[in-house]
Amino acid sequence: MIPLPEAQAEVLARCPVLPAVRVRLDEAAGCVLAEDVTAAEDVPPFANSAVDGYAVRAADTASVPVELPVVGELAAGAPPGPTVGPGEAVRIMTGAPLPDGADAIVMVEDTDRLDGGVRVRIHRTVQAGDAVRGAGDDVRACTVVFAAGTELRPATLGVLASINRREPLVVRRPRVGVVSTGDELVPDDRPLQPGQIRESNKTMLLAVLARMGAEQLDLGLVGDSEPELERVLRDAAERCDAIVSSAGVSMGDYDVVKAVLDRIADMRWMQIAIKPAKPFAFGTLGAGDGRVVPVFGLPGNPVSALVSFELLARPALRKMMGHARVERPRIRAIADDGLPRRPDGKMHLTRVHARPGEDGRFHVASTGPQGSHQLAATAAADAIAFVPDGDGILSGADVDVILID
Ligand code: AMP
Ligand code: MG
Repeated sequence: MIPLPEAQAEVLARCPVLPAVRVRLDEAAGCVLAEDVTAAEDVPPFANSAVDGYAVRAADTASVPVELPVVGELAAGAPPGPTVGPGEAVRIMTGAPLPDGADAIVMVEDTDRLDGGVRVRIHRTVQAGDAVRGAGDDVRACTVVFAAGTELRPATLGVLASINRREPLVVRRPRVGVVSTGDELVPDDRPLQPGQIRESNKTMLLAVLARMGAEQLDLGLVGDSEPELERVLRDAAERCDAIVSSAGVSMGDYDVVKAVLDRIADMRWMQIAIKPAKPFAFGTLGAGDGRVVPVFGLPGNPVSALVSFELLARPALRKMMGHARVERPRIRAIADDGLPRRPDGKMHLTRVHARPGEDGRFHVASTGPQGSHQLAATAAADAIAFVPDGDGILSGADVDVILID
């Protein structure tokens, strides 16, 4: 058995960062910038009002209350209009351009409208610059706004739109094919024949991929047939950037994934010192155009498949997507009821629920039965606790946890 970090390091090292492409902003959420972005424009593009109120010369409000004639009105989107002379005010709305002559805005709450709006009484003294948003206050033209490697989150996309960067250069999303293997699997609602079970891994893994911002390709179910699996995998290598399979990687007589990949891919079979998800296969398959396509051979038991994906495939796919941080946030939490176990030479990856306590720490508790076929308890988990080899974590003691949701 090899330790988990060693397996993770090998997988990461063998997965390439994908090439860069230009994408529209509405397709770019979750992608990672492949270039520094320099602003071509100031944001905001002109000085404007931060409030609804009156544009004035600050000096005219030195002693209050003061009454000024209102010589015009400016709405957002209006071209620059009236000029503010000494002793004058212009009614102005949020976002409207600061008129010439004015150097401050008095907010409407500090004023009274007089004579049907012809005059205004001002109650508060303002300083030059008050409630004025200067040109370039948010982003200055010709400066680098985002460095290569930045993830395009919603606010990042908003900034790119504000500086008119419509098609940023990003690392391409990986297209990931998912295949389930096993003669016993039934993909739909037909009645189960003796010995059959309903397939769940593919449904689950496609959803995990969608969530992490990868493109998914459903490669379907393949029975325990070597020629059929070989055809599906070779075809997938031409169309995908990575392939995820589940089942058929352990020591059974019908473990065809193992047999086929041994023949057609550059594989490394791993027995990882973890429970669940001890067997794992990783390798690369050559595509016709010279690309090298990573293949993640996950174990078949649903809990093992998910944990294995989480710890080995997800970080590697995030690297391919250009992310600098490939791992989940890791914290030290308190195991309220303890996490008992028996020594077996493996790190136990216990699925837990994590909640923030009044003491400012996270507290975790097992979500239920931890068998590798018991997916229901894993469905309730939002964290995975790392319980080292030994007799487990005592009640109230610390445990390392990764937050998966
Ligand atoms: P295997 O690795 O083929 O020996 O499979 C291990 C266990 O996982 C067996 O009990 C399989 O029936 C089960 N299994 C394999 N693939 C799936 C799947 N796609 N959905 C649900 N269970 C599966
Ligand atoms: Mg099988």
